[in-house]
Parts: sequence; C-alpha cells; structure tokens
Amino acid sequence: MHTLNNNDFSNRKAVIRVDFNVPLDENFQVTDSTRILAAKESIDYILNHGGSCVLISHLGRPKGKDAAFSLYHIVNKVSEILGIPVLFCDDCVGPKAETATAQLKPGEVILMENLRFYPEETAGDFNFALGLSKLGDFYVNDAFGTAHRAHASTTIMAQFFDEDKYFGKLLEKEVKAVQKVLENGEKPILAILGGAKVSSKITIIENILDKIDHLIIGGGMVYTFVKAMGGNIGQSICEDEYFDFALELLEKAKLKNVNIHLPTDVIIADDFSNKANKKVSMVSEISEDWQGLDAGPESLKAFEQVVMKSKTILWNGPLGVFEFENFATGTMTLGEQIAKSTKNGAFSLVGGGDSVAAVKQFRLGPKMSYISTGGGAMLESLEGKILPGIAALLT
Ligand code: AMP
Repeated sequence: MHTLNNNDFSNRKAVIRVDFNVPLDENFQVTDSTRILAAKESIDYILNHGGSCVLISHLGRPKGKDAAFSLYHIVNKVSEILGIPVLFCDDCVGPKAETATAQLKPGEVILMENLRFYPEETAGDFNFALGLSKLGDFYVNDAFGTAHRAHASTTIMAQFFDEDKYFGKLLEKEVKAVQKVLENGEKPILAILGGAKVSSKITIIENILDKIDHLIIGGGMVYTFVKAMGGNIGQSICEDEYFDFALELLEKAKLKNVNIHLPTDVIIADDFSNKANKKVSMVSEISEDWQGLDAGPESLKAFEQVVMKSKTILWNGPLGVFEFENFATGTMTLGEQIAKSTKNGAFSLVGGGDSVAAVKQFRLGPKMSYISTGGGAMLESLEGKILPGIAALLT
C-alpha cells in the first residue's frame, strides 16, 4: 500500500480526489463539515512536506452545469478549516483548469469546480480522466465514500500516474480499520448486525462468518430468524423468502463454532409509530396485532456479556427503530456497551449507514475506535469486495 507517509513532496503538486459532497442549506452554507475535516490530514501533510494541493470533488447529483451545485459555495468553509485562503477555479478540466493549476505554488491549495458538471465523470470516461491527470504531478485518492465507484476521478485517472499514486490518510484509515477487524482482529471477534432486513446483509454475513467468534443479530432481521424457527412474531417485519437462508446460517455457524446471539425478549408496539403502546414480550411469543421494534432488557443484559468480553467489535445496523425515541433504548444501550468495552481496550469499528447515524445521535462518536465515513463503500468492504478506487491504487 502506497501511503503518503515519509515522502518529500517538495515543489510537487498533488491532485487529490476528496469527498466534499457536503450538505448545504438554502443559503448555500455548509451544515455538516465532517467530510472536509476528514480530508484535512492529507492536505496538511502534503503542504507540510513541501507540496501544493489541487482538490477535485463532486457535489450532489447535478444534471450538467448548475450553479446550485457549484463547489464555489464551500470555498470559505474549506479555507476556514485548512486555515489558509483556498483558491477556486470554475472548471475542473481543460485549458482553464490546467492554467490555474500550473500557477499553483508550494503551500497553496486550489479547489476545482464540481466534477459532475461533466457526465464523463460518472461514466468513467478515459479522455476526461486523462484531462484530470494533467492537473498534478501525483495522484492521491482520499475519497473513501466514492471508492466503490469506477468513476473517472476515483478510479480511471489512477492509471496515468504509474507509481506516483497514493492512499490518502482517510482512505488508509478506512482500509486499515476493516483489516483490523476481518484480517488481523484480536479474538474474540464480535460482529453485531442489525437494521431492517436480512436480505441486505447476506453477503456481509457470508463474508465474515469464517472470521468471527460471536454474531449478535438485532433489529428487524431478528424476526425472519424467529419465524423460521417456528416462533410467533405478530406483525413484525419479516422476509419469508429468507427462512432457508436463516436456518442454514444457524447450522453453518454451529459447524464453524460461531456463537449466534438473538434477542430473547423485545419491546413490542401496537403500531409502527413513536406514539404506539409498548410492552416487553418474549421474542417468539408476540401477540398477533403487535410488532417488535426494539431489543428487550433481558437481551441487552445478555448482549453486554458478549460485548464486554470481545476484543474486536464490528457494528453495522441498529438494534431497533432508533429514529423513534421510544424505541431507541436498545440501540443506545448497545452503543454505550461498545463504548465501555472500547475503553477497556477493545477495537470497535462502526460502519455502514444507520449505526453511524445512531452513534452520532447518541454522541458516542469519540468513544468508538473508528467510525467509517463511507456508507456503501464500507458495506462493500465488509462484503469482501475490493473497491475499484482501491484496486486502481494497487496496480
Ligand atoms: P439498515 O439500513 O439495514 O441498517 O436498516 C436501518 C433501519 O432499520 C433503521 O431505519 C431502523 O428503523 C430499521 N429497523 C430496525 N429495527 C427494526 C424493526 N424491529 N422493525 C422495523 N424496522 C427496523
């Protein structure tokens, strides 16, 4: 893996694919700077080692050139975060872009206009990628959030840099976090998979089953397993077509000595609503008109035992409908347990979609070892796929 570490970039210009796809309000002000902050380390590193930086990114999904999606809106925020005035070029490819970047001096940073003003970007167009490659002396990919896409700037342009292409600091951290769980994780290794559906987690389960010691299954996925085993789940969410998969998984896990932990009790509701009546029920004895929306107290106690004895923890997906305050306790409690185990020395990776949102909502972020910045990219990494953006840096 070619990382930025221990390189001298004196008088060299980096073209860095960053992910500045940040949310803007109606006045085009940045409402969440997480992604800009996440790219700062790579940019600072290159500037501090004698180089200059050309930043390329997409913003939203514009159909052609559209001022509402201009990266110009974020120049002030990027300047504020980097602590230096950042230049802007209102094109990202072609003569104007090449002239602007040619004038860049060591220590300077220029942000180029939205890559997706050109349909060639998402099409992975060869000539467009060649044009982008003319903006710098070396290429850095630090956009983990789009590393699962074979777009011109995330994948195709890497081929024009021979050896001169690098993992940015963020990309490096994301890849190492997954390796720390799935390749060289300290045992016992626990995976917690929650969320709505079994179907969206099958590939992950199949990829990790050989690598883990414990699997906690939570959220809406639970009811497919419980019904497959003959339990009564009332109106709970369920995918009948995955009964065979669920039963086979339980068998496979036994053969592989993986301990599967399903909740024994759940919080059930008489409606899919925050205002619904609720009570505790055994997971396999849910009354006909009720549905399970959160893990129950007895289950949470049992999960705590597993979480506290694990040395490596992967968490993907909430334990219940945490968006409803009245059914958020399970997800929050589990988050607190993982935080406690992390404090005791476990490595915890929170990755892929809604568990990241939950951790942020409950302000547990700083207490986890690593929180992934990429939803789809993290899911595909956990599925064992080599992301095209990463493969392009390795060839
Ligand atoms: P996923 O994107 O697969 O991780 O699913 C996350 C979603 O699963 C969240 O929006 C939760 O509200 C939902 N979810 C979790 N538990 C349940 C449940 N018991 N019934 C219905 N939806 C659930």
